[in-house]
Amino acid sequence: MEEKKPKLITSVSNEQRKIPPKENFSSKAHIKSEEEYNKIYQESIKTPEKFWAEKAKQLHWFKKWDTIFTWDPKNIKATWFKGGKINVSYNCLDANLKKIGNKIALIWQGEPENDVIKITYKELYNEVCKFSNVLKKKGIKKGDRVCIYMPMIPELAIAMLACTRIGAIHNIVFGGFSATSLKDRILDSQCKLLITADGGFRNGKIIPLKSIADEAISQCDCIESVIVAKRTKQEIKMEKGRDTYWDEEMNLVSNICKPEHMDAEDPLFILYTSGTTAKPKGVLHTTGGYLTYVYQTFKWVFDYHEEDIYWCTADIGWVTGHSYVIYGPLANGATTLMYEGSPTYPDNDRFWNIIEKFKVTIFYTAPTAIRALAKFGEEPVNKHNIKSLRLLGTVGEPINPEAWMWYYKNIGKEKCPIVDTWWQTETGGILITPLPGAFTLKPSSANKPFPGIEPAIFKEDGTEAAPNEGGYLVIKKPWPGQMRTVYGDHQRFVETYYSRFQGVYFTSDAARKDVDGDFWLMGRVDDVISIAGHRIGTAEVESALVGHKDVAEAAIVPIPDEIKGQAIYAFVTLKEGVKKTEKLKQELIQHVAKEIGPIAKPAKVQFADALPKTRSGKIMRRILKVIATGEGDIGNVTTLADPSIVDALMKDRQ
Ligand code: AMP
Repeated sequence: MEEKKPKLITSVSNEQRKIPPKENFSSKAHIKSEEEYNKIYQESIKTPEKFWAEKAKQLHWFKKWDTIFTWDPKNIKATWFKGGKINVSYNCLDANLKKIGNKIALIWQGEPENDVIKITYKELYNEVCKFSNVLKKKGIKKGDRVCIYMPMIPELAIAMLACTRIGAIHNIVFGGFSATSLKDRILDSQCKLLITADGGFRNGKIIPLKSIADEAISQCDCIESVIVAKRTKQEIKMEKGRDTYWDEEMNLVSNICKPEHMDAEDPLFILYTSGTTAKPKGVLHTTGGYLTYVYQTFKWVFDYHEEDIYWCTADIGWVTGHSYVIYGPLANGATTLMYEGSPTYPDNDRFWNIIEKFKVTIFYTAPTAIRALAKFGEEPVNKHNIKSLRLLGTVGEPINPEAWMWYYKNIGKEKCPIVDTWWQTETGGILITPLPGAFTLKPSSANKPFPGIEPAIFKEDGTEAAPNEGGYLVIKKPWPGQMRTVYGDHQRFVETYYSRFQGVYFTSDAARKDVDGDFWLMGRVDDVISIAGHRIGTAEVESALVGHKDVAEAAIVPIPDEIKGQAIYAFVTLKEGVKKTEKLKQELIQHVAKEIGPIAKPAKVQFADALPKTRSGKIMRRILKVIATGEGDIGNVTTLADPSIVDALMKDRQ
């Protein structure tokens, strides 16, 4: 009988560069060498409960936990630090008051250059206590859901921390979402109160948040009150008896508010994943494990030190903003920078301008932003003194080696390590990442698991793949920052994450692990393309295309092929000023053949001025597939950052 071979994902990457850690960085780092990491890692895997309990002890607990960890594999239910009493806002604020009350907690840069606010820990504590009292006055109690739909302004940070202070569960909806998306998210979690703003600034224009919110809540009976922060000061409608202004409410309350003693397993927040096709999932995170996880990962991954000025460019509407703009940094007593606007407004040097202005030392952004800014070349960067930087980070997508090298050379000036952090909304915090003082970096590899995390590459049949064999990335054991359930639908949680492989967490990402144990992410499993029996992840072919000197960005999708089953259709965005010619298309096809091999040669290339992306910057291949094949329904495009891109792409179909 013929043996059935488990299907593998073929890796076609041949990236070989290695960048060892620099002595002057390592000597001051929390984790100084690979040996030190190995030792910590081995111990953390042997005795994870001991490891995590030690980390949790760094936080302030009103009462110690009864059990460190419990796991019910039948019902897929994990608990961490159950019985322990803790409060997130207490750890982010009160716990810092004595030692660093006058330190800047939050630097806020509005989109208009002169809109800057610096808030100390003491001031932030006062504002949060006051707003907690506003929420209480509105009848919000422990366990109630509060929706926050705001621009990137300090009130957003205050609102979320206030929710955690009184034990309300926040549901933050990114300010770029439409009325329908907002309505769906409010209804699913049955929010009682909505916090919004009159509007927000983006690319010099006003986003009319309040009127979008009005449209959404006209269909949400659960909303009893609305609090409106004033940002743009344009005229808005206020509904009497339901809507009140933030500043007016704040004038009526005291700045004393005792923090609620929350059980470690009490819900902290719900955050909906973008959901490109299905109904968005309400990812539920709980209190003690999540805070321990973001506290510890922030400290080690970003090698945080007291004097750092840390800037993560993510919007707080995404999980990166929750974990690494607010909770991780504040729990560590850091100064965190929050920027309201776009990377290219008023000009394409805005990020570098902000780094120079505030002497940012740690900068964390997304590959999509790096590629978009690299498109303009080095001149906008060279206008600024960005020497304050000592560490760079990326998150959100695989970063192709070309973009990595551009970031390393031009932003990090070859002295800053880059932490390519792999994680998901569901994971709460970073799981696979370099530790910057310890690891030899490899452009495009996320390196190794954070201590306490046990990832593996599985083949179709659930056995482990050999080194460099591509497969499914799974996490074998629960960790404190992991989501606990899909809000209101535990069955969906079990089916989505725990049914593909029994008892292990399925990430839906394709990856490989090399001989050194470093992980290389290859894209989402659903996007894998099958050519003549080889299953190829999107990331590696896209990396090869972006490796060509004229290419700024690329996305590949499958089209049917009579002989090979599937072939590659490539969408390519060119750098500024490059001409779109047939000759260049052929050159790109040959370039991929040379870099990877003929197997990955695109059958067709379409030049695209822009690619369809979610509002968090991820390429929506679902839409590109419909365009490339000319079959199927484009479906809902409201989650796209710019829906008009679709028509333009359709017109130029090859
Ligand atoms: P989200 O939950 O929206 O943050 O998206 C999580 C997904 O983004 C992951 O499953 C990956 O597909 C992708 N992702 C995030 N960070 C990385 C990274 N550093 N390298 C590769 N893919 C990443």
